[in-house]
Amino acid sequence: MTSRKLLLLPGDGIGPEAMAEVRKLIAVMNADMNAGFETEEGLVGGCAYDTHGASISDADMDKAMAADAVLFGAVGGPKWDGVPYEVRPEAGLLRLRKEMELFANLRPAICYPALASSSSLKPDVVEGLDILILRELTGGVYFGEPKEIIDLGNGQKRGIDTQVYDTFEIERISGVAFELARTRRNKVCSMEKRNVMKSGVLWNEVVTATHKAKYSDVELTHMLADAGGMQLVRWPKQFDVIVTDNLFGDMLSDVAAMLTGSLGMLPSASLGAPDAKTGSRKALYEPVHGSAPDIAGQGIANPIAMIASFAMCLRYSFNMVAEADRLEAAISSVLDDGLRTKDIMSDGMTEVGTVAMGDAIVEKF
Ligand code: ATP
Ligand code: MG
Repeated sequence: MTSRKLLLLPGDGIGPEAMAEVRKLIAVMNADMNAGFETEEGLVGGCAYDTHGASISDADMDKAMAADAVLFGAVGGPKWDGVPYEVRPEAGLLRLRKEMELFANLRPAICYPALASSSSLKPDVVEGLDILILRELTGGVYFGEPKEIIDLGNGQKRGIDTQVYDTFEIERISGVAFELARTRRNKVCSMEKRNVMKSGVLWNEVVTATHKAKYSDVELTHMLADAGGMQLVRWPKQFDVIVTDNLFGDMLSDVAAMLTGSLGMLPSASLGAPDAKTGSRKALYEPVHGSAPDIAGQGIANPIAMIASFAMCLRYSFNMVAEADRLEAAISSVLDDGLRTKDIMSDGMTEVGTVAMGDAIVEKF
């Protein structure tokens, strides 16, 4: 039997409550489907600081490096507002991203049919929406040097950030985009601002060259990122995979998120480069939402974002495509049945808590 090594890092706030629902799925898959998941547990965020004085211990970092995939809950909360900057809860996630070299951030925007009518947009704009925003996560203006505030001495200061992209960074993120598109509707739209940015000119050139060299079976289009943002709100269903840089990806994925409604529904994946020998990628899966301290411990958190993150893990780390499809269908089906956690509750629906929602999804799976 294949062994599949998973590291679970539930974190703080509602992280552990959401992770508990994924643990049920793992148990069912091991018992009924011989899935062979071997899970380890670790601490990240405020709970790690309380125990180890660090936002993630070296030992847990080693476990993450050795795992086939990491499932991450959420970190932070008011309890840790005063802790030193280097060991603040978020530093644990940043360390994981950096040391695992997770350069590709996948944020799907999916609108489940049962929720289309509660979107802030017209139902026909979002009904059946299924797009994927792929954001470059380790380069660009977030990390480029120089990055500083200079005192100009005349009562003026200058803030500087530098957008830097090298060919290999654009090649590897666009390769991921084309490969993902092949498993979907075979379309990639690349977004940059080549009209005002040199890095945008290079981005456009390298994406085009990568496409020509290896992926010419995929349909490729280019859009200026500002126009892309507008199109994303006007008619999002025109897209399949959108690939873009770190800064534009940050904004565009938040825009896409709001097309679909609650934060409690949205999963994400962050992938590294394939290992030269085995071809497997380091990967971390996490809900888009944070630790939601305002509702932690009340049993009302929506576990769907975490469960959908596990579905992405099945799909992208273990190639368990049928199981991932079934899990996503199970989520859709409980929503069709009218079950709602508080964050997505509407008239005539049945309000349930975290555990009941998780149980209903396990039941349908
Ligand atoms: P972070 O800085 O970690 O992103 P945040 O404060 O920006 O945190 P969240 O912790 O995600 O954001 O919470 C934002 C709001 O959304 C809160 O009111 C929270 O209760 C709600 N929320 C977030 N996730 C969920 C969920 N899974 N179920 C229900 N409500 C949620
Ligand atoms: Mg936030």
